[in-house]
Amino acid sequence: MAKKRSRGHVFVETDGQVFLVRERGKYRFPRADEGLPFRTDPNGIMDFGEDRVLKRTPRLDHHPEEWIGRDSVFERTDIDPLVKRAIYTTMIRCVSEVILSKGPRVLMVKAVRGFSKGYWNIPGGFMDYGEGPEAGAKREAMEEIGTEVALDGLLNVYVSGFPGKPAYTLGFVYKGHLKSDRLRLKADEIEDAAWFTVDKGLTLTRNPFAKWGLVDFFLQSPESRRALRVKRHGLSEGAKGIDQPTVFLDRDGVINRGRPGYVRTPDHFEFLPGAIAGMRLFQEHGWRLVIVTNQDASGWKLVPERQLTRIHDRMLASLGKNDIRISEIYHCPHHVLSDCACRKPRPGMLLAAARDLGVRPRTAWMVGDKPIDVQTGRAFGCRVAWVGPKAWRRRFAAEVRPWSPDVVADSLFAAASAIIRDSDERVVERFPRTRTTSAANSKSG
Ligand SMILES: [Mg+2]
Repeated sequence: MAKKRSRGHVFVETDGQVFLVRERGKYRFPRADEGLPFRTDPNGIMDFGEDRVLKRTPRLDHHPEEWIGRDSVFERTDIDPLVKRAIYTTMIRCVSEVILSKGPRVLMVKAVRGFSKGYWNIPGGFMDYGEGPEAGAKREAMEEIGTEVALDGLLNVYVSGFPGKPAYTLGFVYKGHLKSDRLRLKADEIEDAAWFTVDKGLTLTRNPFAKWGLVDFFLQSPESRRALRVKRHGLSEGAKGIDQPTVFLDRDGVINRGRPGYVRTPDHFEFLPGAIAGMRLFQEHGWRLVIVTNQDASGWKLVPERQLTRIHDRMLASLGKNDIRISEIYHCPHHVLSDCACRKPRPGMLLAAARDLGVRPRTAWMVGDKPIDVQTGRAFGCRVAWVGPKAWRRRFAAEVRPWSPDVVADSLFAAASAIIRDSDERVVERFPRTRTTSAANSKSG
Protein backbone atom coordinates (compact mmCIF):
# COMPACT_ATOMS: atom_id res chain seq x y z
CA MET A 1 0.00 0.00 0.00
CA ALA A 2 1.48 3.33 -1.03
CA LYS A 3 1.89 5.77 1.81
CA LYS A 4 0.11 9.07 1.30
CA ARG A 5 2.59 11.93 0.92
CA SER A 6 2.32 14.44 3.73
CA ARG A 7 2.61 18.21 3.29
CA GLY A 8 5.63 19.86 4.91
CA HIS A 9 5.36 23.14 6.84
CA VAL A 10 8.18 25.04 8.52
CA PHE A 11 7.72 26.25 12.09
CA VAL A 12 10.45 28.76 12.95
CA GLU A 13 10.44 30.15 16.45
CA THR A 14 12.81 32.08 18.69
CA ASP A 15 12.24 33.89 22.01
CA GLY A 16 8.49 33.25 21.79
CA GLN A 17 8.24 34.88 18.33
CA VAL A 18 7.02 32.83 15.34
CA PHE A 19 7.84 33.47 11.68
CA LEU A 20 4.65 33.33 9.58
CA VAL A 21 3.86 34.34 6.00
CA ARG A 22 0.82 36.38 5.03
CA GLU A 23 -1.40 35.11 2.26
CA ARG A 24 -4.82 36.62 1.40
CA GLY A 25 -5.16 38.27 4.81
CA LYS A 26 -4.22 35.13 6.79
CA TYR A 27 -1.00 34.08 8.45
CA ARG A 28 0.38 30.59 7.90
CA PHE A 29 3.64 28.63 8.23
CA PRO A 30 5.97 28.84 5.22
CA ARG A 31 5.78 25.63 3.22
CA ALA A 32 8.78 23.33 3.10
CA ASP A 33 9.38 24.14 -0.59
CA GLU A 34 9.38 27.92 -0.03
CA GLY A 35 12.66 29.64 0.79
CA LEU A 36 13.31 31.44 4.07
CA PRO A 37 15.08 34.83 4.33
CA PHE A 38 17.48 33.50 7.00
CA ARG A 39 19.32 30.29 7.87
CA THR A 40 17.89 27.70 10.27
CA ASP A 41 18.82 24.53 12.13
CA PRO A 42 16.48 21.53 12.52
CA ASN A 43 14.74 21.21 15.87
CA GLY A 44 12.27 18.32 15.74
CA ILE A 45 9.30 17.18 13.68
CA MET A 46 5.59 17.16 14.49
CA ASP A 47 3.62 14.56 12.64
CA PHE A 48 -0.05 15.47 12.17
CA GLY A 49 -0.75 12.79 9.57
CA GLU A 50 -1.34 14.73 6.32
CA ASP A 51 0.68 17.65 7.66
CA ARG A 52 4.26 17.43 8.83
CA VAL A 53 5.52 20.42 10.75
CA LEU A 54 9.29 20.78 10.66
CA LYS A 55 10.39 22.75 13.66
CA ARG A 56 13.49 24.90 13.05
CA THR A 57 15.59 27.34 15.04
CA PRO A 58 16.65 30.47 13.14
CA ARG A 59 20.16 31.88 13.04
CA LEU A 60 19.50 35.57 13.58
CA ASP A 61 21.57 38.49 14.85
CA HIS A 62 18.57 40.35 16.31
CA HIS A 63 15.37 39.71 18.27
CA PRO A 64 12.59 39.48 15.63
CA GLU A 65 10.11 41.96 17.13
CA GLU A 66 8.24 42.01 13.81
CA TRP A 67 7.25 38.28 14.03
CA ILE A 68 4.06 37.18 15.75
CA GLY A 69 4.13 36.42 19.50
CA ARG A 70 3.24 32.77 20.09
CA ASP A 71 0.81 33.45 22.94
CA SER A 72 -1.25 35.88 20.89
CA VAL A 73 -2.19 33.43 18.13
CA PHE A 74 -5.02 31.73 19.99
CA GLU A 75 -7.30 34.74 20.20
CA ARG A 76 -6.64 35.86 16.62
CA THR A 77 -8.91 34.88 13.74
CA ASP A 78 -6.36 35.56 11.00
CA ILE A 79 -4.06 32.63 11.96
CA ASP A 80 -4.12 29.29 10.16
CA PRO A 81 -5.48 26.55 12.50
CA LEU A 82 -2.36 24.41 11.83
CA VAL A 83 -0.21 27.17 13.39
CA LYS A 84 -2.41 27.14 16.50
CA ARG A 85 -2.32 23.37 16.68
CA ALA A 86 1.46 23.22 16.35
CA ILE A 87 2.05 25.92 18.97
CA TYR A 88 -0.41 24.18 21.30
CA THR A 89 1.53 20.93 20.76
CA THR A 90 4.76 22.57 21.95
CA MET A 91 3.17 23.11 25.37
CA ILE A 92 4.44 20.22 27.41
CA ARG A 93 2.02 18.44 29.75
CA CYS A 94 3.16 17.49 33.24
CA VAL A 95 2.51 14.35 35.25
CA SER A 96 3.71 13.54 38.73
CA GLU A 97 3.98 9.99 40.02
CA VAL A 98 5.35 8.12 43.01
CA ILE A 99 7.07 4.79 43.55
CA LEU A 100 5.96 3.60 46.99
CA SER A 101 8.18 0.86 48.34
CA LYS A 102 8.38 -1.64 51.13
CA GLY A 103 11.80 -3.33 51.15
CA PRO A 104 12.54 -4.45 47.58
CA ARG A 105 8.85 -4.32 46.53
CA VAL A 106 6.90 -1.47 44.98
CA LEU A 107 3.18 -0.68 45.07
CA MET A 108 1.39 -0.76 41.76
CA VAL A 109 -2.23 -0.02 40.93
CA LYS A 110 -4.39 -1.42 38.15
CA ALA A 111 -6.42 1.15 36.25
CA VAL A 112 -10.06 0.77 35.21
CA ARG A 113 -9.94 3.65 32.71
CA GLY A 114 -7.65 6.06 30.88
CA PHE A 115 -4.34 5.45 29.10
CA SER A 116 -3.40 2.64 31.51
CA LYS A 117 -6.76 0.85 31.40
CA GLY A 118 -6.29 -2.84 32.24
CA TYR A 119 -2.58 -2.30 32.98
CA TRP A 120 -0.67 -1.83 36.17
CA ASN A 121 0.89 1.52 36.87
CA ILE A 122 2.44 3.49 39.68
CA PRO A 123 0.16 5.98 41.49
CA GLY A 124 0.10 9.45 39.96
CA GLY A 125 -1.35 11.51 37.15
CA PHE A 126 -1.65 14.91 35.51
CA MET A 127 -0.75 17.87 37.67
CA ASP A 128 -3.55 20.31 38.37
CA TYR A 129 -3.59 23.93 37.21
CA GLY A 130 -0.95 25.80 39.20
CA GLU A 131 0.02 22.74 41.22
CA GLY A 132 3.62 21.76 41.99
CA PRO A 133 4.90 18.23 41.31
CA GLU A 134 5.20 17.18 44.98
CA ALA A 135 1.66 18.27 45.78
CA GLY A 136 0.47 16.58 42.58
CA ALA A 137 2.05 13.22 43.39
CA LYS A 138 0.63 13.25 46.94
CA ARG A 139 -2.85 14.28 45.81
CA GLU A 140 -3.00 11.71 43.00
CA ALA A 141 -1.79 8.91 45.29
CA MET A 142 -4.34 9.92 47.94
CA GLU A 143 -7.12 9.92 45.34
CA GLU A 144 -6.17 6.53 43.93
CA ILE A 145 -5.30 4.51 47.02
CA GLY A 146 -7.09 6.47 49.74
CA THR A 147 -4.17 6.84 52.10
CA GLU A 148 -1.54 9.47 52.79
CA VAL A 149 1.90 9.01 51.32
CA ALA A 150 5.23 10.51 52.36
CA LEU A 151 7.71 11.48 49.64
CA ASP A 152 11.36 10.52 50.20
CA GLY A 153 12.84 12.49 47.32
CA LEU A 154 12.73 12.96 43.55
CA LEU A 155 13.93 9.94 41.57
CA ASN A 156 14.15 11.72 38.25
CA VAL A 157 12.39 13.88 35.65
CA TYR A 158 11.70 12.37 32.23
CA VAL A 159 10.36 13.52 28.87
CA SER A 160 8.46 11.21 26.59
CA GLY A 161 6.10 11.16 23.67
CA PHE A 162 3.05 8.94 23.88
CA PRO A 163 1.67 6.73 21.13
CA GLY A 164 -0.55 8.60 18.72
CA LYS A 165 0.11 12.01 20.32
CA PRO A 166 2.47 14.57 18.78
CA ALA A 167 2.89 16.39 22.14
CA TYR A 168 5.44 15.54 24.82
CA THR A 169 4.85 14.95 28.49
CA LEU A 170 7.18 15.80 31.35
CA GLY A 171 7.13 13.24 34.14
CA PHE A 172 8.29 13.84 37.71
CA VAL A 173 8.77 10.53 39.54
CA TYR A 174 9.26 10.49 43.31
CA LYS A 175 10.11 7.71 45.71
CA GLY A 176 8.06 7.43 48.87
CA HIS A 177 6.28 5.25 51.37
CA LEU A 178 2.78 4.76 52.78
CA LYS A 179 1.93 6.38 56.09
CA SER A 180 -0.59 3.62 56.78
CA ASP A 181 -1.09 0.15 55.27
CA ARG A 182 -4.85 0.54 54.97
CA LEU A 183 -5.74 1.19 51.32
CA ARG A 184 -9.11 2.47 50.12
CA LEU A 185 -9.02 2.14 46.34
CA LYS A 186 -10.94 4.70 44.28
CA ALA A 187 -13.72 2.53 42.89
CA ASP A 188 -14.18 4.08 39.43
CA GLU A 189 -10.45 4.38 38.71
CA ILE A 190 -8.47 1.60 40.42
CA GLU A 191 -9.52 -2.05 40.54
CA ASP A 192 -6.53 -3.51 42.39
CA ALA A 193 -3.29 -2.64 44.18
CA ALA A 194 -0.40 -5.00 44.95
CA TRP A 195 3.31 -5.11 45.79
CA PHE A 196 5.76 -6.36 43.14
CA THR A 197 9.49 -6.75 42.70
CA VAL A 198 10.90 -4.25 40.19
CA ASP A 199 11.50 -6.88 37.47
CA LYS A 200 7.89 -8.06 37.72
CA GLY A 201 6.51 -4.52 37.91
CA LEU A 202 8.37 -3.65 34.70
CA THR A 203 6.53 -6.39 32.79
CA LEU A 204 3.16 -5.11 34.01
CA THR A 205 3.25 -1.41 33.14
CA ARG A 206 3.29 0.34 29.78
CA ASN A 207 3.87 3.81 31.17
CA PRO A 208 7.40 4.90 30.16
CA PHE A 209 7.73 7.13 33.25
CA ALA A 210 6.84 4.20 35.50
CA LYS A 211 9.40 2.02 33.69
CA TRP A 212 12.26 4.52 33.82
CA GLY A 213 11.30 5.41 37.40
CA LEU A 214 11.32 1.73 38.39
CA VAL A 215 14.80 1.28 36.92
CA ASP A 216 16.07 4.40 38.74
CA PHE A 217 14.37 3.22 41.94
CA PHE A 218 16.07 -0.17 41.55
CA LEU A 219 19.45 1.53 41.13
CA GLN A 220 18.91 3.63 44.26
CA SER A 221 17.47 0.87 46.44
CA PRO A 222 20.13 -1.32 48.10
CA GLU A 223 17.45 -3.94 48.97
CA SER A 224 16.26 -4.18 45.36
CA ARG A 225 19.78 -4.35 43.97
CA ARG A 226 20.75 -7.06 46.44
CA ALA A 227 17.55 -9.04 45.85
CA LEU A 228 18.32 -9.47 42.13
CA ARG A 229 20.56 -12.48 41.51
CA VAL A 230 21.54 -13.09 37.91
CA LYS A 231 24.19 -15.39 36.44
CA ARG A 232 26.96 -13.79 34.43
CA HIS A 233 30.09 -14.87 32.65
CA GLY A 234 32.22 -12.45 34.67
CA LEU A 235 33.73 -10.15 32.02
CA SER A 236 32.78 -6.82 33.44
CA GLU A 237 34.63 -6.25 36.72
CA GLY A 238 34.72 -2.52 37.30
CA ALA A 239 33.79 -1.74 33.70
CA LYS A 240 31.15 0.98 34.17
CA GLY A 241 30.10 3.43 31.50
CA ILE A 242 26.99 5.23 32.71
CA ASP A 243 24.66 5.99 29.82
CA GLN A 244 27.02 4.64 27.17
CA PRO A 245 24.77 3.42 24.34
CA THR A 246 24.31 -0.30 24.81
CA VAL A 247 22.78 -3.04 22.75
CA PHE A 248 21.44 -6.15 24.43
CA LEU A 249 21.83 -9.12 22.13
CA ASP A 250 19.85 -12.30 22.41
CA ARG A 251 22.19 -15.20 21.54
CA ASP A 252 20.50 -18.05 19.63
CA GLY A 253 18.92 -16.76 16.40
CA VAL A 254 20.75 -13.42 16.57
CA ILE A 255 24.45 -14.19 17.03
CA ASN A 256 24.48 -17.90 16.27
CA ARG A 257 22.22 -20.33 14.49
CA GLY A 258 19.74 -21.99 16.82
CA ARG A 259 19.66 -25.75 16.40
CA PRO A 260 17.17 -28.51 17.19
CA GLY A 261 18.31 -30.12 20.45
CA TYR A 262 20.09 -26.87 21.48
CA VAL A 263 23.71 -25.71 21.25
CA ARG A 264 25.19 -28.21 23.69
CA THR A 265 28.93 -28.14 22.81
CA PRO A 266 31.35 -25.47 21.52
CA ASP A 267 31.30 -27.26 18.13
CA HIS A 268 27.57 -26.67 17.83
CA PHE A 269 28.17 -22.92 17.88
CA GLU A 270 27.87 -21.43 14.38
CA PHE A 271 27.82 -17.66 13.77
CA LEU A 272 24.93 -16.37 11.67
CA PRO A 273 25.67 -14.32 8.53
CA GLY A 274 25.83 -10.62 9.48
CA ALA A 275 26.32 -11.28 13.20
CA ILE A 276 30.01 -10.42 13.47
CA ALA A 277 29.70 -7.54 11.00
CA GLY A 278 26.72 -6.21 12.99
CA MET A 279 28.61 -6.33 16.28
CA ARG A 280 31.60 -4.63 14.66
CA LEU A 281 29.38 -1.84 13.33
CA PHE A 282 27.93 -1.22 16.79
CA GLN A 283 31.37 -1.21 18.34
CA GLU A 284 32.77 1.19 15.73
CA HIS A 285 29.98 3.62 16.62
CA GLY A 286 30.78 3.50 20.34
CA TRP A 287 28.13 0.99 21.38
CA ARG A 288 28.64 -1.53 24.14
CA LEU A 289 27.58 -5.13 23.55
CA VAL A 290 25.87 -7.19 26.25
CA ILE A 291 24.51 -10.69 25.64
CA VAL A 292 21.33 -11.77 27.44
CA THR A 293 20.29 -15.37 26.89
CA ASN A 294 17.71 -17.76 28.32
CA GLN A 295 19.43 -21.12 28.39
CA ASP A 296 16.55 -23.59 28.30
CA ALA A 297 19.14 -26.33 27.78
CA SER A 298 20.61 -25.54 31.21
CA GLY A 299 17.11 -25.54 32.68
CA TRP A 300 16.56 -29.01 31.20
CA LYS A 301 19.95 -30.09 32.63
CA LEU A 302 21.20 -30.81 29.08
CA VAL A 303 24.07 -28.34 29.34
CA PRO A 304 25.85 -28.10 32.71
CA GLU A 305 27.01 -24.60 33.67
CA ARG A 306 30.67 -25.54 33.09
CA GLN A 307 29.86 -26.58 29.55
CA LEU A 308 27.97 -23.33 28.94
CA THR A 309 31.07 -21.44 30.09
CA ARG A 310 33.15 -23.42 27.57
CA ILE A 311 30.71 -22.61 24.77
CA HIS A 312 30.89 -18.94 25.66
CA ASP A 313 34.67 -18.95 26.00
CA ARG A 314 34.92 -20.34 22.45
CA MET A 315 32.46 -17.71 21.18
CA LEU A 316 34.42 -14.94 22.92
CA ALA A 317 37.70 -16.22 21.46
CA SER A 318 36.27 -16.10 17.91
CA LEU A 319 34.89 -12.62 18.52
CA GLY A 320 38.24 -11.55 20.02
CA LYS A 321 39.99 -12.56 16.79
CA ASN A 322 37.63 -10.11 15.08
CA ASP A 323 38.47 -7.40 17.64
CA ILE A 324 34.98 -7.57 19.09
CA ARG A 325 34.65 -7.11 22.81
CA ILE A 326 31.59 -8.25 24.76
CA SER A 327 31.00 -6.31 27.99
CA GLU A 328 29.15 -9.14 29.70
CA ILE A 329 27.13 -12.28 29.06
CA TYR A 330 24.12 -12.81 31.32
CA HIS A 331 22.22 -16.05 31.20
CA CYS A 332 19.16 -17.56 32.83
CA PRO A 333 19.91 -21.16 33.81
CA HIS A 334 16.42 -21.85 35.18
CA HIS A 335 13.65 -24.13 34.02
CA VAL A 336 11.26 -22.72 31.39
CA LEU A 337 8.42 -22.65 33.91
CA SER A 338 10.38 -21.00 36.71
CA ASP A 339 9.17 -17.68 38.10
CA CYS A 340 12.66 -16.13 38.23
CA ALA A 341 13.57 -12.49 37.64
CA CYS A 342 16.12 -13.37 34.95
CA ARG A 343 14.09 -15.45 32.54
CA LYS A 344 12.99 -13.33 29.57
CA PRO A 345 10.41 -11.78 29.20
CA ARG A 346 11.25 -10.66 32.75
CA PRO A 347 13.95 -7.95 32.41
CA GLY A 348 16.17 -9.19 35.29
CA MET A 349 19.27 -9.62 33.08
CA LEU A 350 18.84 -6.07 31.72
CA LEU A 351 18.38 -4.71 35.24
CA ALA A 352 21.54 -6.53 36.29
CA ALA A 353 23.37 -4.76 33.47
CA ALA A 354 21.94 -1.44 34.69
CA ARG A 355 23.34 -2.24 38.12
CA ASP A 356 26.68 -3.78 37.08
CA LEU A 357 27.58 -1.76 33.96
CA GLY A 358 25.61 1.47 34.24
CA VAL A 359 23.30 0.73 31.27
CA ARG A 360 20.27 3.05 31.09
CA PRO A 361 17.03 2.21 29.24
CA ARG A 362 16.88 5.47 27.28
CA THR A 363 20.25 4.81 25.64
CA ALA A 364 19.77 1.07 25.10
CA TRP A 365 18.31 -1.28 22.51
CA MET A 366 17.33 -4.92 22.76
CA VAL A 367 17.82 -7.12 19.68
CA GLY A 368 16.18 -10.54 19.58
CA ASP A 369 14.53 -13.07 17.30
CA LYS A 370 11.65 -14.17 19.55
CA PRO A 371 8.52 -12.38 20.75
CA ILE A 372 9.83 -12.68 24.34
CA ASP A 373 12.95 -10.70 23.39
CA VAL A 374 10.83 -7.86 22.03
CA GLN A 375 8.69 -8.04 25.16
CA THR A 376 11.79 -7.96 27.41
CA GLY A 377 13.15 -4.81 25.76
CA ARG A 378 9.75 -3.15 26.09
CA ALA A 379 9.58 -4.17 29.77
CA PHE A 380 12.96 -2.53 30.43
CA GLY A 381 11.78 0.65 28.66
CA CYS A 382 14.41 0.59 25.92
CA ARG A 383 13.90 0.43 22.17
CA VAL A 384 13.62 -2.87 20.39
CA ALA A 385 14.73 -4.55 17.16
CA TRP A 386 13.27 -7.84 15.96
CA VAL A 387 15.49 -9.90 13.66
CA GLY A 388 15.04 -13.08 11.68
CA PRO A 389 14.44 -14.36 8.17
CA LYS A 390 11.13 -13.40 6.53
CA ALA A 391 9.52 -16.83 6.97
CA TRP A 392 10.42 -16.80 10.66
CA ARG A 393 8.94 -13.34 11.09
CA ARG A 394 5.72 -14.35 9.36
CA ARG A 395 5.40 -17.20 11.85
CA PHE A 396 5.61 -14.88 14.87
CA ALA A 397 4.10 -11.71 13.36
CA ALA A 398 0.83 -11.88 15.32
CA GLU A 399 2.63 -12.48 18.62
CA VAL A 400 5.08 -9.62 18.08
CA ARG A 401 2.55 -7.05 16.79
CA PRO A 402 1.31 -5.81 20.21
CA TRP A 403 4.90 -4.97 21.17
CA SER A 404 5.52 -3.04 17.92
CA PRO A 405 9.30 -3.26 17.50
CA ASP A 406 11.05 -0.05 16.43
CA VAL A 407 13.19 -1.89 13.88
CA VAL A 408 12.52 -5.13 11.98
CA ALA A 409 15.44 -6.67 10.09
CA ASP A 410 16.74 -9.86 8.43
CA SER A 411 20.04 -9.99 10.29
CA LEU A 412 22.02 -8.40 13.10
CA PHE A 413 23.97 -6.36 10.56
CA ALA A 414 20.77 -4.94 9.04
CA ALA A 415 19.43 -4.19 12.52
CA ALA A 416 22.69 -2.49 13.57
CA SER A 417 22.64 -0.28 10.45
CA ALA A 418 19.04 0.77 11.14
CA ILE A 419 19.65 1.41 14.86
CA ILE A 420 22.73 3.53 14.21
CA ARG A 421 20.88 5.50 11.53
CA ASP A 422 17.99 6.04 13.94
CA SER A 423 20.32 7.20 16.71
CA ASP A 424 22.02 9.69 14.39
CA GLU A 425 18.63 11.12 13.39
CA ARG A 426 17.57 11.38 17.02
CA VAL A 427 20.36 13.84 17.69
CA VAL A 428 18.23 16.12 15.59
CA GLU A 429 14.90 14.90 16.95
CA ARG A 430 16.21 15.31 20.51
CA PHE A 431 13.85 13.18 22.56
CA PRO A 432 12.91 9.54 22.20
CA ARG A 433 9.30 9.09 21.24
CA THR A 434 8.12 5.89 22.88
CA ARG A 435 6.16 3.43 20.86
CA THR A 436 4.73 1.20 23.54
CA THR A 437 1.60 0.33 21.58
CA SER A 438 1.45 2.22 18.31
CA ALA A 439 2.35 0.14 15.31
CA ALA A 440 2.42 3.17 13.03
CA ASN A 441 6.15 3.15 12.46
CA SER A 442 6.98 -0.51 12.73
CA LYS A 443 7.84 -2.36 9.59
CA SER A 444 6.62 -5.75 10.74
CA GLY A 445 5.08 -8.23 8.40
MG1 LIG B 1 16.81 -16.36 20.30
